[in-house]
Amino acid sequence: MGFVNTIHTDVIVVGSGLAGLYTALQAAPHARVALLSKGTLSVSNSMWAQGGISAALAPDDSPHLHLEDTLVAGRDLCSTRAVEILVQEGPARIRHLQELGVPFDYENGELALALEGGHRRRRIVHADGVATGATVTGALSRIVRSQRTISLREQMEVIEILQSDGVCCGVLAYHPPSRAWWRFLAPATILASGGAAGLYARTTNPAVTRGDGMALAYRAGAAVADLEFVQFHPTALVSETGGGFLLSEAVRGEGAHLLNTRGERFMPRYHDLAELAPRDLVSRANFREMAETGSDHVLLDLSPLDPQIIRHHFALLYERCREYGIDLLKEPVPVAPAAHYVMGGVLTDVNGTTSLPGLFACGEVACTGVQGANRLASNSLLECLVFGRRSALAALHLAEASGNQSVGWRSSPAGPTHRATAEADGLVRERLGALLWQQVGLVRNAQGLQHCLDELDPLDQLPASASVQNSLLVARLIATAAQMREESRGGHFREDFSEEAAAWRKRLVFQQGQEPTLIDLEAHDLILSPTPLAVPA
Ligand SMILES: Cc1cc2nc3c(=O)[nH]c(=O)nc-3n(C[C@H](O)[C@H](O)[C@H](O)COP(=O)(O)OP(=O)(O)OC[C@H]3O[C@@H](n4cnc5c(N)ncnc54)[C@H](O)[C@@H]3O)c2cc1C
Repeated sequence: MGFVNTIHTDVIVVGSGLAGLYTALQAAPHARVALLSKGTLSVSNSMWAQGGISAALAPDDSPHLHLEDTLVAGRDLCSTRAVEILVQEGPARIRHLQELGVPFDYENGELALALEGGHRRRRIVHADGVATGATVTGALSRIVRSQRTISLREQMEVIEILQSDGVCCGVLAYHPPSRAWWRFLAPATILASGGAAGLYARTTNPAVTRGDGMALAYRAGAAVADLEFVQFHPTALVSETGGGFLLSEAVRGEGAHLLNTRGERFMPRYHDLAELAPRDLVSRANFREMAETGSDHVLLDLSPLDPQIIRHHFALLYERCREYGIDLLKEPVPVAPAAHYVMGGVLTDVNGTTSLPGLFACGEVACTGVQGANRLASNSLLECLVFGRRSALAALHLAEASGNQSVGWRSSPAGPTHRATAEADGLVRERLGALLWQQVGLVRNAQGLQHCLDELDPLDQLPASASVQNSLLVARLIATAAQMREESRGGHFREDFSEEAAAWRKRLVFQQGQEPTLIDLEAHDLILSPTPLAVPA
């Protein structure tokens, strides 16, 4: 690393998905914001989001019903306090997006509300049918670009969190197009860098979501939690060229059925809610039917839907499937589960505070406890808004308290290295993706998890880039957490411990240099002094 450019600012936001954009917009009227993104604004999970954003807005709905549905999906592992905040503040965040000019879909002058799995009421607001992510994120991106106080830096990959006397004071980043290194210094840094499902070989995510933020925070000493809980979406397209393209849950919400390759509708055999059962159950049912029929897919049958709904509300899916030679109006779509979302992340309280002073986290990178062991559909974008705003307020408070003074810094010993080769990066990524998919996927067991951990050791020795080393670290944390949790709950299913165990109603927390610990579900505020590990017998 040669010359490093240095920028002093008030608030740093890492990531330009919905969490990053919304957080930056909340902070911008009061402070100078550096918004850093590894890719461009057009690449993020948020951009790819389809179904919509959940909020209790209908006359027959209430935050309490939304809370209950979220807790049920979360399999007794949510932080009730965080979920209360999510559902109570959710409607106001949607209204704020309306004020900002986000063009949601309307019916008879009211917001159109869709139904998705696990929700007992219609509460999913959407935009341009199932192009919600692109529409909402696109609208906020335009506003961000017009803000004088936001300095937007695209293709700026954060490589390290900087500290001074145990306090986060900014980040070190690399800008590949100019081959330049940048040091951004500020009293408050907000991680909004997304999830880690992009690590898996079969995934619905873009390549920018490979858990960077979780690794950066962990290396800097912040606590991470719940990493064993990975959500596998039941209906990602299976095709030679289009693997992973998502067919939104909203399709089943409107009445589509799942059939096995023998043409039998199977979900009513698995759950009272049939195709609208929580995602983890639908994904495992698909997996079982695939095993029993010896096929690599099941079928999503849209024939129960009105063709007009398919053409208009699901226009995006209709067009994308046509590109793969499938006509949704005439034939069922081959689908199978794919890694979609990581419930865990950097442990935070309800204001985005992490265990590293000066560092905040929000959106998919964070573990606020709202998602529990299994995220309820469309609660993720809502989490970005509700906790993005709270993180911005907390960061502003800190920046103001520091008098917006310039901060000093020192680099940690685990700084970037030069020994990386593209060949090693490619090899590690491919092997890592396959290992996670095969051994840390929908159905896990002790032997497979140990095999994965053993296979990661030689990969650690290869001359990979800092980015790929971060991927290896997150993969190891996910596999270790999955190995330790000897029960099945939500997105974590162990065939050798197939039941939920009351003793495991705890969060599993990892912090560099310390033994893993279990904390109570509401103990996020106490993360600096978690109770010692007591692994249930
Ligand atoms: C296909 C698909 C459909 C979905 N549909 C829905 C839905 O309908 N409703 C719902 O609630 N959820 C949905 N989800 C989940 C939801 O989209 C995500 O959980 C949410 O968008 C996460 O937002 P985020 O801002 O936290 O992260 P992201 O949107 O993933 O953004 C992460 C940002 O961080 C940046 N970044 C990453 N690493 C670095 C680094 N090292 N340095 C700098 N920048 C970095 C990336 O470039 C990116 O800008 C869907 C997900 C997918 C993949």
